[in-house]
Amino acid sequence: MESFEYTAHHPRVVFGAGTLSRLPAEIARAGGSRPLLLSRRGPVAGVDAVFDGVAMHTPVEVTERALEVVRERGADCLVALGGGSSTGLGKALVARTGLPLIAVPTTYAGSEMTPILGETDGGVKTTRRDPALLPATVIYDVELTRTLPAGLSVTSGLNAMAHAVEALYSPQANPAIDSFALDAIGRLARALPRIADRPDDLDARADALTGAWLAGICLGTVGMGLHHKLCHVLGGSFGLPHSETHAVVLPHVMAYNAPTAMARIAAALGVSDAPAGVFDLAARLGAPTSLAELGLPETALRTAAVAATETPYPNPRAVTADGVERLLSDAWHGHRPATAAGDLSRLTAQVVASFAGAPDQRLAALLGDLVTRLHGFVADNDLTEAEWTAAIGFLTETGQLCSPTRQEFVLLSDTLGISSAVDLLSNSRSPDTTPSAVLGPFYVEGPPVKEHGADLAEGLPGTPLRADVRVTDVDGRPVAGATVDVWQSNQDGYYDVQLPDLEGPVLRARLRTDGDGRLWFRSILPSEYPIPDDGPVGRMLRATGRHPYRAPHLHFMISAPGHRRLVTQLFVAGGPYLDSDAVFGVKDDLIIDFPSDEDGTRRVAFTFRLGPDSAGD
Ligand code: NAD
Repeated sequence: MESFEYTAHHPRVVFGAGTLSRLPAEIARAGGSRPLLLSRRGPVAGVDAVFDGVAMHTPVEVTERALEVVRERGADCLVALGGGSSTGLGKALVARTGLPLIAVPTTYAGSEMTPILGETDGGVKTTRRDPALLPATVIYDVELTRTLPAGLSVTSGLNAMAHAVEALYSPQANPAIDSFALDAIGRLARALPRIADRPDDLDARADALTGAWLAGICLGTVGMGLHHKLCHVLGGSFGLPHSETHAVVLPHVMAYNAPTAMARIAAALGVSDAPAGVFDLAARLGAPTSLAELGLPETALRTAAVAATETPYPNPRAVTADGVERLLSDAWHGHRPATAAGDLSRLTAQVVASFAGAPDQRLAALLGDLVTRLHGFVADNDLTEAEWTAAIGFLTETGQLCSPTRQEFVLLSDTLGISSAVDLLSNSRSPDTTPSAVLGPFYVEGPPVKEHGADLAEGLPGTPLRADVRVTDVDGRPVAGATVDVWQSNQDGYYDVQLPDLEGPVLRARLRTDGDGRLWFRSILPSEYPIPDDGPVGRMLRATGRHPYRAPHLHFMISAPGHRRLVTQLFVAGGPYLDSDAVFGVKDDLIIDFPSDEDGTRRVAFTFRLGPDSAGD
C-alpha cells in the first residue's frame, strides 16, 4: 500500500480549436475590462494593448519594462499568449501586481499549469512557487499550435514528456498524477511523429496539446528530479536553449535512473526500452541529440555536473558528480543510451540460442520459451536481488521437502493452478467423456488389488459409503476389465501416507470392472482436508491470505486398453470448499450427490465414460 498527500491547484481550462474567440468572455469572467496582452505577436480580437518585449527565462529588466506598461495602460487583467516565455512574464507580473492572468499557450512547455516562476537577474536564475501565480483561466486553442514549426514542436513535446517522466519517480508521486503522466507520455509519443510529418494535422496537434496540459499538471503538482535540475543548470548557467536541452538530456537521465518507472514508461511509449525509445523518437524526428550541437563546450561538462550535484533535486538514484559527468558526456557525444533492456534482449537471445543444438527440438522450444518468459518477468517486475534470493530459497526448500510420500512440487503446481491448467488443456476437450481432474500429490504406484465389495477403510471409523462404479466408452458400451485405482482421505482428512503409524496402504485400492463394466466397493465418506501446509507452499498460502482446504472427494484413475486413461475426482455435493478448493480442482460435472440410505450409509453411483485412445497415451 502506498501513502501519499495530494493537493490539486489546477486552473480552469478551455480547450478546443478556435477557442481564442472565448478570450473576451474569459477576461470578463476574471473581472477584467482593460486587458494587456503579453505576446511576441500583434494584438488579438478583444485586446488592443500589447507588450511584445517577451524574452526567454523571464529577465527582471523585461518584467520592469512590462510593469511600466501595465501602469501606463491602467491594465486590470493580463493575457499571456505564446510559449513558456510569455507565460513566465505573465506570472512575474502577477507576482508584482496581483492582477488576474489568462494564459493562451502556443507551445507544449506546460508553464501555464504550474505555480512556479523562474526569473533571471544579472544571469542568476531564482525560482519561487506560489499557487497565487496560477492563471485564472488557460485557453488551449489547438489552431494556434499549428504554426509551431515541426522542429520546435518535437523538442517542446519532449520537454512536456520530461515533466511526465520525472513525475513517475517523484517522492510526491500518487496514482492520480501517475495516470496523467502515463497518458501524457503515450499521447505525445503518438502525436509527435504525426506532427513532424504534417505540422498542420489538427488531430495530432490536439493530442499533443492534451499531453502537454496533463504533463504540465504533473510538473505543477509533484517535485521533479535530476533531469529538471540538469536542464536548469544548462539553461541558466550555460545559456542552452530550453526545449532542445530537454530533448537531448531526457533519454540519458532516464538511462541513469533505470529501472525505476521505466517498465511503465516503455509500455506507455509502446517500446521495449524506455530510454532508448525516447532517444530513437527524438533522433527519428530530427531533434538535436547531442549537447555538442547545442553549443556546449566539452570542458563545461565537469562544471555542469558539479553544479547539478551541489543542491540536487530528489532523485531515485543517488546523484554523484562522477555519475552525472558520465551522463553528460554521453549526452554531449549523442550516444544512444546503452540500456539494460538492450543488454537483456541480447542475453535472452544468447540463452535461447544455446538450446538450438538440442537433439530434442520440443525440449529446445520449451526451454527457449521458458527462458524468454522468465527474463521478461524479471524485467517487467524490476525483480530485485533480494526477491531473486527469496525465490531461490523457496524453491530449494520445496525440493528439500520432497520424498517418496511428500510431493511439495506437485503441491506448488496444484496451488498455483498449473496442474489444473495442464489438465484443462490436455484432457478435457471432449464433451462426451467424463471430465478429468488433477492427480494430486497422494497417488501411490501399485495400490493393493481388491475384489468387488471389499472395504477400502478396513474398519477405520467414518460414515459408511457404498460406491457403484460403471465404466463405458463414449457410446455407453461397457468397458470390461478396466483397471480402476481409487484413493481417498480418512474421516479426519488424512491420506495413509501422511500417517506414519499405519501399517501398509489403506483407503486405496485397485479393482477391475466385470463383463458389464461394473464394480463396487465399500469405504467411508471422504472429508475435506487441508493440503500439507507445514512447508513453503503453506507459507505462500498464508502470505496471500488463502486457506489450505480441499473440498471432499474420491480420486479415480481408470485405464483400459484402447481407451484414453482418465484421472479424475468425484466431489461430494453440499460439501465445504467446493467454490474455493485450494488446488482449483473442482469441476461442476464432477460434483455428485452422495445420498443417504436409511441405515446412514452414503451411496455414490457414477458412470465414467472413457474416450478412445487416439492420443496414444
Ligand atoms: P518560448 O516561449 O521562448 O517559445 C519558443 C519560440 O517559439 C519563440 O521564438 C516563440 O515566439 C515561438 N513560438 C511559440 N509558439 C509558437 C507558435 N504557435 N507558432 C510559431 N512560433 C511559436 O519557449 P518555450 O519552450 O515555450 O518555453 C520556455 C520558457 O518557459 C523557458 O524560459 C522556461 O524556463 C519556461 N518554462 C517555465 C515553466 C514553469 O513552470 N515556470 C515551465 C516550462 C517552461
